[in-house]
Order: sequence, then structure tokens, then C-alpha cells
Amino acid sequence: MYPQVEISSSRLKENTISLKKLLVSRNMDMWAVTKCFCAIPEVAEVIVSGGVEVLADSRIQNLKKLRDIKARKVLLRIPMQHEVDEVVEWADYSLNSELETLRLLGSSALKAGKTHRVVIMVDLGDLREGVWADEIEDFVAEAVKIVGISIRGFGVNLTCYGGVIPDEENLGRLVKIARDMQDKFGLEIEIISGGNSSSLYLLKNGRLPEGINNLRIGEALLLGRETAFGNPLEDLNQDVFILKAQIVELKEKPSVPIGRIGMDAFGNVPYHEDRGVIKRGIIAVGRQDIDPAGLMPADGGLDIIGASSDHTIIDFTNSPREYKVGDIVEFSMDYGCLLRAMTSEYMGKLLVR
Ligand SMILES: *Cc1c(COP(=O)(O)O)cnc(C)c1O
Repeated sequence: MYPQVEISSSRLKENTISLKKLLVSRNMDMWAVTKCFCAIPEVAEVIVSGGVEVLADSRIQNLKKLRDIKARKVLLRIPMQHEVDEVVEWADYSLNSELETLRLLGSSALKAGKTHRVVIMVDLGDLREGVWADEIEDFVAEAVKIVGISIRGFGVNLTCYGGVIPDEENLGRLVKIARDMQDKFGLEIEIISGGNSSSLYLLKNGRLPEGINNLRIGEALLLGRETAFGNPLEDLNQDVFILKAQIVELKEKPSVPIGRIGMDAFGNVPYHEDRGVIKRGIIAVGRQDIDPAGLMPADGGLDIIGASSDHTIIDFTNSPREYKVGDIVEFSMDYGCLLRAMTSEYMGKLLVR
């Protein structure tokens, strides 16, 4: 079926083994993040076969899909109050930042005869989730009174929203906060989670503060890049996922539309560069399945000139290859494009060797 995302299990497993080895060499644990591929169980299984013991996702529906995979499960997104029973049922750990939600998790866990493990998120400036650092002591003082939960550690998320880069300063503060809370409240701290793929550069340079013992890794595992600066990581494959789409029209046409220009399908007024008459092709994939700005053609001679919901238009003029209608064009994808491709139900997903 086309369009299709082809997923290489051997390259994914190699990435898993390399990253796991890097983290284990510093006595750190890696939680593998499955949300970008919608937690397809067969893909998660490849990651587990590479030595990962904990899978993390932001959505309960995805954790449910992973029910038969032998790994512990983590809910990454701060739980919604309406889903606490499911969190207790499907997640071994959840990340939290709200006392009232922790109380609901506690009573739900009590009802289920369980203790639910939580990691408290600290906001160190990126301004997405987390308890503000100045308020952490009051927060923990209340959280330790809640029956049914066990505080297993502290974590931070950086870069994803505010773009703040992890460094010795902010991650050092996280370690200090975790240790202070441990001493003050007699906590048994198992996890100090220093972020996501954007923290890997510190680890590589030997600058990750002592005490950070966990990272939650998605993009580096799947796309082979760190995300503080967007650099590819050597020893990792950048081509685990390949998008394949079929050419449905290929004709010589002008590069500038003819007529008065109004708004396109998405309400923007398009700009068209005049390249004269070009070899224009349409591939059968569009904004419902991909982000055209995040698509990189494997053939360097191709140029993506635009996309609507179901069509992506490509300038084939500068490719040495003689394409024809029916040919398959291949692309690599950035994180946002991959997320959309994996989420689209119109996209085939094929796990290959
Ligand atoms: C998505 C997510 C991650 C993984 O981030 P990557 O940049 O893909 O490594 C880690 N932690 C949380 C809380 C997340 O939501």
C-alpha cells in the first residue's frame, strides 16, 4: 500500500543497542519513548529486543496497545483527572505536577490494591510541565502525605516547548532539588530523569551532571539525532523510517499559476517562484499525512514545491533520473512529519528487516 512508511527493524535495533550502551556506561537507564510511532506493538517489540526495559508514552491508549510487551510502562503526559483509574491500571509510573491529581491517583490506587509510582516534574524554565522550583518543597510536603502513591523521583523536561537547552546549570539544579527532597522527607529516590534527546549532547561530552540517572529518549532512537542542536549522532542510523509515495501525474507545466492569486486550501496566499516551464509531478500524499516542510527527498535533484491535503507537488526538472507515472519516490522525515505520517490512518506502515 502507498503511501507507506517503511520501518527498518534492524536499524532501529542497532540504534537501541548503541544508545542503551551509551547510557549504561554512565550507570544510567533509558526509557524508550513510543509516542512518535503511535506505540505500534511490533515496533516497540524491536526496541525491547534491543535491551530496553521501560517504554514511555504520553497517551493511555498507546500504553494499552503495549499490554502484551514485557516492559514496564510510563505515562509521560501529566495525567488527566478523568483517566486516573486507567493510569493506575496501565502505567507502572506516571509523571506528575498537580497535587489534586496525585490525590486522585492515590485513592484510585488504594481502591485497586496497588501503590502507584510517581515522578515529580520540576519546571526549570522551559515553561511546559512541572512544579516551579521555588515551590517544590511545599509541594513535596503535601505529596508525601498522600496514601496510595510512592514518590520514586524527580524529572525535568526541556527544549520541547520553550527551546531551553539542558546544561550543567539547570540539570545540576534538578539533582540538588532531588537530593534536598530526599534528605528533608526521607524519600527513596530511584529516578532523577534529566530530560529527553536534547540532553544527549551533554552525556556525549561528559558534561551531564553526576546524579542524573535516567533519560527519556524518543527522537534520537527513531531518527538518530540529538535535539539540542539537531545534529545527527554518529553510530546511529538516521534512516529507520522511509516514506514512500507514488507519482500520479507528471507533466511539463509552468511554475507560476495562471490567473489572479487568492488564498490556497489552507487560507494562505501562496508565493510562486518563476522557474519557467518545469517537469511537475504529483505524488499521492498530502498535508493530512505529512508536513511538506519536514520531508527530505532521497533523490537530491527533487524539490518539493508545495502540498495540499492529499497532493504533494514536486519539481522533477533537476533530477538525472527519468521518472514516470507509477514510480515510487522516497523521503526521510523530521520528527513532526514522522509523527503525522504515523498518525495518519491513510498511511501504510510496513516493518521490514
Ligand atoms: C515526548 C517526550 C519525551 C521524548 O522526547 P524526545 O525529544 O523525542 O527524546 C521525553 N519526555 C517527555 C515528558 C515527553 O513528552
